[in-house]
Amino acid sequence: MQSVIVHYQEIALKGRNRPWFVERLVSNIRSATADLGLRRVRALMGRIEVQYESGDTWGEVRDRLARLPGIANFSKAVRCPCDFEVIAETVLGELADLEVESFRVTAQRADKRFPLRSPEIERQLGGRIKAARGWRVDLERPALTVRVETLTDEAYCYLSKESGAGGLPSGVSGRVACLLSGGIDSPVAAYRMVRRGCRVRLIHFHSYPILSHTSQDKVAEIAERLTRSQLETRLYVVAFGDIQRQVVLAVPPALRVVVYRRLMLRIAERIARASGAMALVTGEAVGQVASQTLDNMAIIDSVVSMPVLRPLVGMDKDEIVREARQLGTYEISIIPDEDCCTLFTPKHPTTKAKAREVEAAEHALGVEPLVDGAVAAAIRQDLTFPASVAPSARDE
Ligand code: ATP
Ligand code: MG
Repeated sequence: MQSVIVHYQEIALKGRNRPWFVERLVSNIRSATADLGLRRVRALMGRIEVQYESGDTWGEVRDRLARLPGIANFSKAVRCPCDFEVIAETVLGELADLEVESFRVTAQRADKRFPLRSPEIERQLGGRIKAARGWRVDLERPALTVRVETLTDEAYCYLSKESGAGGLPSGVSGRVACLLSGGIDSPVAAYRMVRRGCRVRLIHFHSYPILSHTSQDKVAEIAERLTRSQLETRLYVVAFGDIQRQVVLAVPPALRVVVYRRLMLRIAERIARASGAMALVTGEAVGQVASQTLDNMAIIDSVVSMPVLRPLVGMDKDEIVREARQLGTYEISIIPDEDCCTLFTPKHPTTKAKAREVEAAEHALGVEPLVDGAVAAAIRQDLTFPASVAPSARDE
């Protein structure tokens, strides 16, 4: 049998919510690995232990844990009874095939009833390793760090650490709805909210069949990526092509982008409310394109009465691109496709829309029936990770 010791973000999880956060993380780890036949996932003394049968499961377990928000780091570990002699023998056994220049021992005593304090464990175990292997002790820059954690009945020993995704466990922060295009920015915005523990609903507007099916295919793939982190995703696909045609007929060119955005937000708000989301999320950043000015943001937000969150608002494009690459959505986003807004967008959208002009244009257009129709025709799709585990088997 093999163990993985999972550490969560201690500081973020302090306080009264902590037991609930930990329970949620345990349940997320169970869901994320449901098809791997793991033996057990349990919370114990400030960490989580994942047990699996020895074999080649580790690579898959590692990939899945690395994507789960709420995990600070995790390690493949050997478990043994919490007795110094046994710990020393276990560690020496683990080191048998290794040869290093220098090492140190880092110990953590979770149950204070263990007779040796952490520095004493470090000194004594370090002495045993040095005597057996002749390696030099280097506390500052060791080539190898031997880590030992002593709990009540069991101790864990490990030699390396994997970085986790950080953030908070998915599902602890409520629901939001992200307007997801096939572009580079909005997937990163959605992920940032996933990482803060939100369940992120996705809403995509497409112009099929006026344009190709590409944007919907891209969005489905991006949704699949995000689902590997949040485990459940509800995607709404909204037909927007006819609405855009009507905007082109009724609204002066310079105002069209603002009017599209206001329509998108109105539709998104209705869908968000119906699915229990408390805020909208977009991938906008101040000044990135002509339509993303503070003036326009204000006039766009004024049509809805829930917060519009813009997690990327202060980021440079290259920072966003870096995050998109890490997330694995960049390669999908750059697949060429006609954006539903670019087709109908004039060369010079206004950067400073005036509320009165926009409202007059919308009055001529008649927005309410358009919004009602789009909401009624929205198509909902539920995704889960792993795909083989049905949502009903989960505990939300
Ligand atoms: P992105 O890379 O996310 O498409 P962008 O820099 O291209 O962003 P815009 O096209 O101005 O910016 O869109 C601004 C935001 O509006 C997007 O980040 C997204 O949240 C939302 N949005 C734009 N087009 C769509 C769409 N077709 N469906 C859903 N949301 C959209
Ligand atoms: Mg775009």
